[in-house]
Amino acid sequence: MFTVDNLKKSLQLFKEKIDKNKDYLSELDTPIGDGDHGNNMARGMEAVSESLQSKEPQTVQDVFKLTAMALISKVGGASGPLYGTAMMEMAKAAATTSEVLPILEAGLAGIEKRGNSKPGEKTMLDEWAPAIEAIKKDMLTEALLESAVEATKEITATKGRASYVGERSIGHIDPGAMSSMYFFQSLMEAGV
Ligand code: ADP
Ligand code: MG
Ligand code: MG
Repeated sequence: MFTVDNLKKSLQLFKEKIDKNKDYLSELDTPIGDGDHGNNMARGMEAVSESLQSKEPQTVQDVFKLTAMALISKVGGASGPLYGTAMMEMAKAAATTSEVLPILEAGLAGIEKRGNSKPGEKTMLDEWAPAIEAIKKDMLTEALLESAVEATKEITATKGRASYVGERSIGHIDPGAMSSMYFFQSLMEAGV
């Protein structure tokens, strides 16, 4: 179940992981993208953190909404609108439930709609979809999150910048899948 406290804690942990792995995320984005994913996410999560501190949201819906707005307004890259839409759809879902599964499913659907994408195209969805599938079966583990990210190496990118290099994207981890792993790890660590 999402609460204001465990959601804020999750976002704080997510920000810390992004900061710690900022250079690594940008390195992953170098061979198959433009090398900015770590910087994009770090800038976005800094804005999220500032917004949550200054506005002190009192509901799960408002925490998600402020997060979405900060990401959409502060991240120029593809990942900003995609994560931002996920957070906005999760805000909408949180109006009627605090259950984790339907909220995360709404986030996933938001990314698919905004990105015109599906799992299997070497994007963040290749972390979101297996993670949510595992949550459904109450079987989410650190190992599953890691193996899903690793599996993006085998996929030829057909969406986003990585699609420009086509088959040469094989052998490389998708940076957005890696940052999404930090998001799901953060949820687990915060006890969501
Ligand atoms: P940009 O590509 O604009 O520089 P980022 O580097 O911050 O943006 O983010 C790239 C990540 O965004 C990719 O690794 C991928 O996971 C994700 N992504 C890109 N396009 C899509 C899409 N259409 N659907 C889902 N995820 C996408
Ligand atoms: Mg990039
Ligand atoms: Mg970019």
